[in-house]
Amino acid sequence: MKPNEGRLQTSEHILAKILEGRLEGITVGISKFKEESGLLEIISTADLRALDLKEIESEVNNIISKGLPVNKPVMDRAEAEKVADLGKVPASVARVTIIDIEGFDKRPCRDPHASNTSEIGHFKILGVEKVGADRYRFVFLVE
Ligand SMILES: [Zn+2]
Repeated sequence: MKPNEGRLQTSEHILAKILEGRLEGITVGISKFKEESGLLEIISTADLRALDLKEIESEVNNIISKGLPVNKPVMDRAEAEKVADLGKVPASVARVTIIDIEGFDKRPCRDPHASNTSEIGHFKILGVEKVGADRYRFVFLVE
């Protein structure tokens, strides 16, 4: 695991949840992580470059500052389906890890994450690029 990866990963879940709450009809796409930054692709017909990034950033930081425990239960697929959207989990996967940011968000993910949102640090969005017809890429870091 890269030093920042768990923190970046966990902040990505928070960002995805906040974007889903603010924007109608978006789809959360792939995410990728480098040593110092992460990226999250969002599929949207609206131009996401028009968003107020400072406002979104502060919503993410607000969740981080709540110090929410991050639970990582591993469940049988049938159980996991009751608590999260498994649309992106291949059908062959029988046991699913749910990343449960207590009281805030649950989604399946197999990568390393922080154990508490307070470990993430300060979240910052570096920018949003348009990378396809309906596809936008958020680039972010934690410091
Ligand atoms: Zn994740």
